[in-house]
Amino acid sequence: MIGKVAVIGAGQMGSGIAQSVAAHGHQVMLADVDLATAENARAGIDVALGKAVGRGKMEIAEAEATLSRIAAIADYEPMTEADLIIEAATEREEVKKAIFEKAGKVLSQGAIMASNTSSIPITRMANYSPDPERFIGLHFFNPVPVMKLIEVIPGLATAKSTTDRTIAFAESLGKEVVLSQDEPGFVVNRILLPMINEAVFVLGQSTAGIEDIDKGCRLGLNHPMGPLQLADFVGLDTCLDIIKVLYKTTRDSKYRPAPLLVKYVEAGWLGRKTGRGFYDYSGEEPVPTR
Ligand code: NAD
Repeated sequence: MIGKVAVIGAGQMGSGIAQSVAAHGHQVMLADVDLATAENARAGIDVALGKAVGRGKMEIAEAEATLSRIAAIADYEPMTEADLIIEAATEREEVKKAIFEKAGKVLSQGAIMASNTSSIPITRMANYSPDPERFIGLHFFNPVPVMKLIEVIPGLATAKSTTDRTIAFAESLGKEVVLSQDEPGFVVNRILLPMINEAVFVLGQSTAGIEDIDKGCRLGLNHPMGPLQLADFVGLDTCLDIIKVLYKTTRDSKYRPAPLLVKYVEAGWLGRKTGRGFYDYSGEEPVPTR
């Protein structure tokens, strides 16, 4: 049984994971690069819970109880009490490696270490942790409190008991699980990222504008949102990191990053989280930037 959970990396995903896990009765420790960042994230969760109450999705008492179960922490020491440590930091292997090595020092006997990585091989990262048998991929979708899916990705050395406990935990959050082998991009991103990347090529080659590309996919493919809007949602830096990993690990040119995606990231236009990506989010409604 998973009781206490630690989440390392309190960005869009880590915050959403902390909120969902706490909403299902678990005590959650939330860490980031420093205490102020983790506290800021906790304040953001408070706002998100307030909105859920405003929309009638949650009672005030439930929102208050959820927030009270989340503690922002400054260092890893308290994580000795966690049954599960979920890493949800920036999609860079060196960042994650440093986290697994540091968290590995406080991982208790029997506890599981999981990564929310979108694309970095689980089997390789397992070696940065003290026990690869207790290391697994636990891939949430954005926004976590809303999205029903979790991909569970055992690495080569992951024990069956770790996989079983992780699936049981994911299902206890009210999510549906897809089990994926440890292949680049797993299942969903392997399909999604080439589509987003291709949409940016279509934009870069001026085949159509942002609105028409998104409209085409919404109305022609029956997708709830277009690929460029979705890319803004995911974060353009995260999209670029994932497509780069697919390109590097498979060496297949079909995954080469669209030059315009690289440019947007270099400009710091990372999507909703920075207020501008393919759309500008400074007004009431998103406005296409090209
Ligand atoms: P984000 O940029 O919103 O958040 C990343 C967080 O990690 C930041 O708060 C940053 O300060 C923190 N961080 C960086 N270095 C750290 C360190 N050494 N220790 C602790 N925290 C550190 O990114 P995100 O969208 O939340 O993505 C996080 C992870 O989740 C990535 O691995 C990403 O691939 C994965 N993911 C993202 C999505 C998505 O749609 N954005 C979906 C599924 C999985």
